[in-house]
Amino acid sequence: MLLLKKTMNSMRKIAIAIHVGAGPDKEFIRQHVVEYENGLRAALQEAYSILKRDGSALNAAEAAVKSLEDNPLFNAGRGAALNHSGEVEMDAAMMCGTRLKAGAVALLRQVRNPISLARNIMEHTNHVLVAGQNAIEFARSMEMVLEPDAYFITEHQVDEYLIARKKETPADLLMKPKAGTVGAVALDVGGGLAAATSTGGTVNCLPGRIGDSALIGCGCYADNRTCAAAATGDGEWLMTRAIAHSLSSLMEHTDQSLKEASEYLIHTKNKDVKGDLGIISVNTKGEIAVSFNSKIMPHGWINSDGDWHVQVY
Ligand code: ASP
Repeated sequence: MLLLKKTMNSMRKIAIAIHVGAGPDKEFIRQHVVEYENGLRAALQEAYSILKRDGSALNAAEAAVKSLEDNPLFNAGRGAALNHSGEVEMDAAMMCGTRLKAGAVALLRQVRNPISLARNIMEHTNHVLVAGQNAIEFARSMEMVLEPDAYFITEHQVDEYLIARKKETPADLLMKPKAGTVGAVALDVGGGLAAATSTGGTVNCLPGRIGDSALIGCGCYADNRTCAAAATGDGEWLMTRAIAHSLSSLMEHTDQSLKEASEYLIHTKNKDVKGDLGIISVNTKGEIAVSFNSKIMPHGWINSDGDWHVQVY
């Protein structure tokens, strides 16, 4: 009876965690702390209300990321960073920890919510990653909302682009300033995990550059047996270190808690990395971990007890 009760309790756990990018402290963020907090709160609230009604982790993670994509403060969807040509090219990915299925998009324009297109690719095709114009055509065939290019471009991102263009050196073509990428991880009442990531990438990057946020195992990974993880920071490092899958592997092959594994991953295993790394994660016990080596990684979570946490600084 006790065992049954314990199992039922662990099955009833729900959790949601989100981030809006690991990176440097910025004047823009300092000027918009309240708006950042409100944006985090709104996304958390949306996702949590889905989980509370026994909705799926996938629906919750998608809803959180959609809310952040629609918010022009963050570098995803509306408010995406501009590449070297002054254009928006977005990446996004979703993974289901129950089915180990994933969907992702890269070099995307016009689609209002890249995360929902990633979800559609996961649910309605046999593929994982679709890029460019053909991804837009697929979105059109799914009757998704498209927007003109101008919808995505904000004054803040134009400023960031102009500053980056002024400071440009050849080395910059690899490592670009970035901030505001978004991610979510969720646990539903049935013990299902999901992870989701979405970004406009790095400011002034080479057109055609694809980052970790579109790559399963790098920016995004979910497996009910280990954890769901969403990473952020300098994509070129996150990709070569396969950060999100590394956390899953640590959970599979060591006795570390989620918190210990995520701290070890960022601060010990990858301490030689000369760039920003951040990761949020959740497991089926409802444990949430947040680790980053950057100055800041605005983030928030709500756990099973309904406890809230929202942190910009
Ligand atoms: N990882 C993202 C990218 O490199 C940027 C970020 O997380 O802020 O595209």
